[in-house]
Amino acid sequence: MKTARLYSFDDIRIEDMPVPEPGPHDALVRTRACGICSGDVMPWYIEKKAPLVIGHEPAGIVAATGENVTSCKKGDRVFVHHHAPCTACRYCRRRDFVQCDTWKTSRIIPGGIAEYILVPSVNLQNDTIIIPDTMSFEDATLIEPAACVVKGLRRTRMKSGDTVLVIGLGVMGMIHVLLLKRYGAGRVIAADRVPYRMDKALEFGADAVIDVKTTGLRQGLRDLTGGEMAELVVVGPNGAEVMGQGIECVRPGGQVLFFTPAKPGEQLTVDPNHLYFRDIDIITSYSCGPNDTTDACDLIDQKVVSADKLVTHRFPIERTGEAFRITAQAGESLKSLIVFE
Ligand SMILES: [Zn+2]
Ligand SMILES: [Zn+2]
Repeated sequence: MKTARLYSFDDIRIEDMPVPEPGPHDALVRTRACGICSGDVMPWYIEKKAPLVIGHEPAGIVAATGENVTSCKKGDRVFVHHHAPCTACRYCRRRDFVQCDTWKTSRIIPGGIAEYILVPSVNLQNDTIIIPDTMSFEDATLIEPAACVVKGLRRTRMKSGDTVLVIGLGVMGMIHVLLLKRYGAGRVIAADRVPYRMDKALEFGADAVIDVKTTGLRQGLRDLTGGEMAELVVVGPNGAEVMGQGIECVRPGGQVLFFTPAKPGEQLTVDPNHLYFRDIDIITSYSCGPNDTTDACDLIDQKVVSADKLVTHRFPIERTGEAFRITAQAGESLKSLIVFE
């Protein structure tokens, strides 16, 4: 079977490997589509794992199951999460699934951009979803990214009517815009520097956009809100500088959500009293767990998030390198998918 293996950011090779053999508790999935994630194109993040078969947003059809598998059967259409928790440890009991040791070490084999994927028993039991018949495989590739947004917003105290600033309008920023409107945000203000992306955000329900190339972020928000700023600020781009700008945009009593890591070694300097006397919270959100993927699947089933809206590019596996470059360029694109024959 064909796989896409990354050796370095500019060196992605299509390699053949044998189709994996599922054990008695595992399943084998024939991949139909797999998304390229914004996280996949942070070179420092992905290259430390290299060489690896990339892709962690797959959807496909169960091709075979081990003799002890009862949760799905051959022919089922599924979303598979690349990490799954044990559900029993102290982290899992508090629903801090991504801190679970099993979550961190579990993985699909060999990765998402492969013609077949072996789904080990823990992933199969604890975060594989049989998708509705009406949901396309392309839609199902959005379950994992949408689940990351579900989780982040779950960690906030966003109330209906709040003003929310979303910084960065790649696919994750767009999913924030879509879910915030769904969850009852009063006013969603979106910021980016690419005209195509700002137009898309308005199309998806953002109430206003800030072009950070022409207006500073803070000044733009001040102008749009009459100085009131935002109860919630979602920081998408990875970097400590924009995190600092995000903090500056929060209204007293509000929250800033760091949705992405900073670059390695970066430090964030904050004046603690700026936070303290304004009761401003900093919240982080890394990846997602099974409760989030379930909610995301429902939101996709309800068409709140869809491939129609978000998928702009589709490639066969042979052109995975091109899909990567387009995602990394962050220009006139949102989601790129690898689709399988
Ligand atoms: Zn992802
Ligand atoms: Zn656990």
